[in-house]
Amino acid sequence: MFLLFGVSVKTLNRAIVNFVKLLPKSVVGVFAKKYVAGTTLDDAIRVTKELNAKGILTTIDVLGEAITNLDEAREEQKACMRVLEAIEAHGLNANLSIKPTSLGLAIDKAVCYELVGELVAKAKEMNNFVRIDMEDSPYTDLTFELYKKLREKYGVKYVGVVVQAYLKRTLKDVEELNPLGTNYRLCKGIYVEPPEIAFQDREEIRENFLKILDKMLTDGNYVGIATHDDYLVNKAYEMLKEKNVPADKYEFQMLYGVREELRDKINADGHKIRIYVPFGERWYEYSMRRLQENPQLAWYITKALFTRQ
Ligand SMILES: Cc1cc2nc3c(=O)[nH]c(=O)nc-3n(C[C@H](O)[C@H](O)[C@H](O)COP(=O)(O)OP(=O)(O)OC[C@H]3O[C@@H](n4cnc5c(N)ncnc54)[C@H](O)[C@@H]3O)c2cc1C
Repeated sequence: MFLLFGVSVKTLNRAIVNFVKLLPKSVVGVFAKKYVAGTTLDDAIRVTKELNAKGILTTIDVLGEAITNLDEAREEQKACMRVLEAIEAHGLNANLSIKPTSLGLAIDKAVCYELVGELVAKAKEMNNFVRIDMEDSPYTDLTFELYKKLREKYGVKYVGVVVQAYLKRTLKDVEELNPLGTNYRLCKGIYVEPPEIAFQDREEIRENFLKILDKMLTDGNYVGIATHDDYLVNKAYEMLKEKNVPADKYEFQMLYGVREELRDKINADGHKIRIYVPFGERWYEYSMRRLQENPQLAWYITKALFTRQ
């Protein structure tokens, strides 16, 4: 491990991120703008129009973190409904991503099913699509249960789910979901999970990602390949070619503001690519998660503060 004055780079990065957390929101906001379309739906529409003009699709996410009651879940659902309506009204090439816990999954799964179901029904009416994001492991089973019920009621064309390559259970989950025919997003996974249930090693996660991708494609499912990792993008290119996967069976997906040069390359290479565009008042919490993934950026913020750039 690389050491600087006896301190590991990882420790130094963590210290920098912790320092950035102490900064006023307004200061962080200037830099965090990179990862979030803005605070309003109009911002998400503007960003989607810009990306659509380049031939890039989006999935729009209303930023909400933990909720404490079902009234908040209903409010969140109304905001998601407005996203679907705006997509139709503006003729955008976009769909909706939702987080089940912000729609009540941790409070009352029946209410959550009802709220998400109304969104999927609306998407079906508009010939659009709802992606159910995957959160941390206490919600994995509940999220699959929610997905399967909605999949059965509305069909594979209108609702899809996310799986995380860092979870040791995922290949088995995919083997169970494949016979249904599933529209997946495959990502590494973003939460901190214990070694008993999740691979910790970068190479092991990559290896599992590719094993899962292979299984999904072999069984003929639609896959959103969600990564900014050059290694995985290149391996996915090879796999798509080798298996002769038709263009209507996959897309690449990336987060707004991350690795735009890779995004443009994938687009220029003729692959469908979709960007996850978050917006909302809760931009701060989301941006902090992105900063933790890329402490390098936190370093830039710190440096800019002290050098008055
Ligand atoms: C469209 C999309 C949807 C997602 N949905 C979910 C979900 O529902 N549930 C879930 O658990 N996770 C989700 N994730 C997050 C995902 O699980 C990973 O945590 C995240 O994508 C980082 O993994 P990576 O494959 O990009 O590889 P990494 O190894 O983390 O990153 C590869 C390279 O990308 C660059 N990079 C990565 N992050 C940043 C950043 N923030 N800023 C600048 N550069 C960066 C760095 O150069 C890095 O070396 C989603 C990711 C995407 C792209």
